[in-house]
Amino acid sequence: MVLQVESTINQSDTMNENMNFLQQDFTVRFTYKVLFTTFLFKKTNNILRSFLKQNENTSVVKKLLFVIDEGVVMHHPNLTTQIQDYFTDETSIVLSDEFLIIKGGESCKNDEKGFNSIVRAVNQHGIDRHSYLVAIGGGAILDLAGYAAAVSHRGIRHIRIPTTVLSQNDSGVGVKNGINYANKKNFLGTFAPPVVVLNDFNFLTTLEAVDWRSGISEAIKVALIKDAVFFAWLEEHATQLVNREMHPMQYLIRRCAELHMQHIASKDPFEQGSSRPLDFGHWSAHKLEQLTNFTIRHGEAVALGLALDSVYSFLSKRLSAPTLNRILTLIKKLGFEITHPLLEVQNNQSPLLNGLNEFREHLGGQLTITLLRDIGTGEEVHEIDPAVVKESYQWLKQHDA
Ligand code: NAD
Repeated sequence: MVLQVESTINQSDTMNENMNFLQQDFTVRFTYKVLFTTFLFKKTNNILRSFLKQNENTSVVKKLLFVIDEGVVMHHPNLTTQIQDYFTDETSIVLSDEFLIIKGGESCKNDEKGFNSIVRAVNQHGIDRHSYLVAIGGGAILDLAGYAAAVSHRGIRHIRIPTTVLSQNDSGVGVKNGINYANKKNFLGTFAPPVVVLNDFNFLTTLEAVDWRSGISEAIKVALIKDAVFFAWLEEHATQLVNREMHPMQYLIRRCAELHMQHIASKDPFEQGSSRPLDFGHWSAHKLEQLTNFTIRHGEAVALGLALDSVYSFLSKRLSAPTLNRILTLIKKLGFEITHPLLEVQNNQSPLLNGLNEFREHLGGQLTITLLRDIGTGEEVHEIDPAVVKESYQWLKQHDA
């Protein structure tokens, strides 16, 4: 674990007739790498073993508890045997004799069973703060496992091995985790950076079409708010991406992860303000996931949310018609839908609009939504007009030929 702590405590004994206080002030520094590889658990691939042995303290045996997405195990049936073989010659690393295999997808964030089973295993196998919880799976399993790790013993080290496009380019490289509560996305969660992220591109070969596609929407999102050149690259490589060519996908994941990580480090990693630019298009996406009873993938919902907020940006005179056209053309070319019946707004009481308040509530403070001025340039606004949301969806319906 590469965690450096710089701590200074300033005490003040300033006293006057009204005031008597102590002051504390410290900084905790987080450092982690995102590594890209293939065949992570091939015996000759040293990446994970080397990571675990850096700063080796031979008096401490490192215990590992693996939490694995059932969907990954189904498609990679030798995975647990490979993991055991990978560590056979190691004396300072001990694997728990249980691999915790949990059904992946949003359902694992929706009930407490998965959470309880991880905490039970942490307890049963004596996983402490010098041990590692290693999560292998899609964004949902990583969110669940990261949350369970963060609250067990007030925080045990966790390693992420993301296995979907979305988790490799977005969710797995950031600092957040969470599970759903009362039908609200990520209502329970923490900010807890991993100690390392290991992106193994080989896992992507077994993804269903929808999971290959879903994560591309996060790349469109980050390009739209941060990088016009990357957006043009996506336009140029859309056909190759649809054809599941691995080389452009590897570039997409790396560039998207890089933009995501730069943003987190540069601004407000633990979201103490009211703005979340990386959540462009997400206010309606999160609501849509809930309204569809989580039958729609997060990435598909994000693509719909990007389309809606791009049209809103156009109708509110921020974005030009040709630019909007480029955005919608790319979203469609990559195989995403741009309309869904549950985006329809009938009146001010329409369920979709509750998404705005829920989005605001999640951070607190003032409603802050990112819209677009241009490709690569976002603009934060604090008010969204329900009539324009309604009009935006009607516009999308008319233009969804
Ligand atoms: P997912 O985790 O729901 O996985 C989708 C499906 O793919 C599951 O059935 C899973 O079993 C299967 N799967 C996973 N890896 C596979 C593989 N290699 N081969 C075959 N099947 C495989 O989907 P996702 O898109 O990875 O993640 C979505 C989740 O990520 C949502 O819960 C979303 O809220 C969350 N998220 C979190 C953050 C964050 O910052 N923490 C950011 C964005 C999204």
